Amino acid sequence: MRPPSVDSLARSLAETGLPHPLLVDAAREAIASGDHTTAEAVARAIADRMLRVVVNATGVLLHTNLGRAPWSATATADYTNLELDLETGQRGSRQDRVGRLLARLCDAEAAMVVNNCAGAVLLVLAALADGRGVAVSRSELVEIGGGFRVPEVMAQSGARLVEVGTTNRTRRSDYAAAVDGAADVALVMKVHQSNYRIVGFTESVRVPDIAGLGVPVVADIGSGLLDSACPWLADGPPSWLEGEPAARQTIAAGADLVTFSGDKLLGGPQAGIIAGRRDLVEACGRHPLARALRPGGLVVGALQDLALAYLARDGDAIPFWRMAVATPDSLRTRADAIAADVGDRVRVVELASVPGGGTLPGVEIPSVGLALEGDHTAPLRTAAGRPPIIARVVDDTTCLDLRTVDPEADASVAQALSNLACT
Ligand SMILES: *Cc1c(COP(=O)(O)O)cnc(C)c1O
Repeated sequence: MRPPSVDSLARSLAETGLPHPLLVDAAREAIASGDHTTAEAVARAIADRMLRVVVNATGVLLHTNLGRAPWSATATADYTNLELDLETGQRGSRQDRVGRLLARLCDAEAAMVVNNCAGAVLLVLAALADGRGVAVSRSELVEIGGGFRVPEVMAQSGARLVEVGTTNRTRRSDYAAAVDGAADVALVMKVHQSNYRIVGFTESVRVPDIAGLGVPVVADIGSGLLDSACPWLADGPPSWLEGEPAARQTIAAGADLVTFSGDKLLGGPQAGIIAGRRDLVEACGRHPLARALRPGGLVVGALQDLALAYLARDGDAIPFWRMAVATPDSLRTRADAIAADVGDRVRVVELASVPGGGTLPGVEIPSVGLALEGDHTAPLRTAAGRPPIIARVVDDTTCLDLRTVDPEADASVAQALSNLACT
């Protein structure tokens, strides 16, 4: 039998919803494989590889593979006043509004937004220390993951790394010696160790100890906690946040600038925020790299919504915080309901969620979820007709942590588990 033409085979796949050129690719691939009846499977595989909404049942609140913090942009097809001053009719700055809101939240003079925190650090170094020295403790020459290594970012920025102290102990006098020495130090930088800890015979300086050395102090806190008092949470800060540096307190302690991510503990879209002294923020804004690193209108809009939720002290409107502080009891109620739906094969179990995103290493948040014997992660990830569910396997048991699952997705999770239970 002759195979169908590429065109007619592609047309027969229309119900997959893919645009025609991609269906042609699928048809060609199937015919080339010698079995044109695989065309629909090939087309479905193409659709499945698209960027999609997934259910995060891993219990990792900030999962880098799943886009870190969940946050939605109000994406409309409208024009906005992104760079227009409505009062004067003159060109405005995309940074002004969101910068003011973020500065207000950090109690800083000024703030600006770039593409991510790596970009924020790069810009700060390039704008404030090009060709000059930047003193960093040897204990803070970290790699955050995904290629962010402090010495390499420093090299790219044009600033010169001036290492101070030792791996485990760095004192104020080490920074002072560097600033007073021959290295032409323009900045002192503190980098949050983020994803690891040094324990044992250690000593490190805090921001107030190095604030008076005569050069600006930049603190890359990375994780993006705005305020350690968490005024947006009805019950105040959860205990697992203890010790995490916050933008507001770091500035109050004497940092001239802080840099942090938008999509870690801030709970928003991918972005990098620079907040602190106005003259320094403005110097960053004037550097040519600021243009290359600037955020798009979608991110500016999303961050504005997020900043307004923080200012309204409405942590409930921020999915990351809603999930992070959900009580084990509320999770157990949901787990019981799903288990009742699915039947005997699933058990309600106590689990431990983690913040993730390279923040708070070792921290566990008591959680509740569902478990079933065996590794079912592949069918949960791939079944047709519902969002992929990402679960994890511990000791040959599939675990679904409900802390990171939006309650709206519970029915979908129950359905998926019932389908598994039938097979
Ligand atoms: C995560 C992190 C970064 C990188 O942030 P991105 O927003 O992923 O670019 C930089 N510095 C510190 C301390 C971090 O924790």
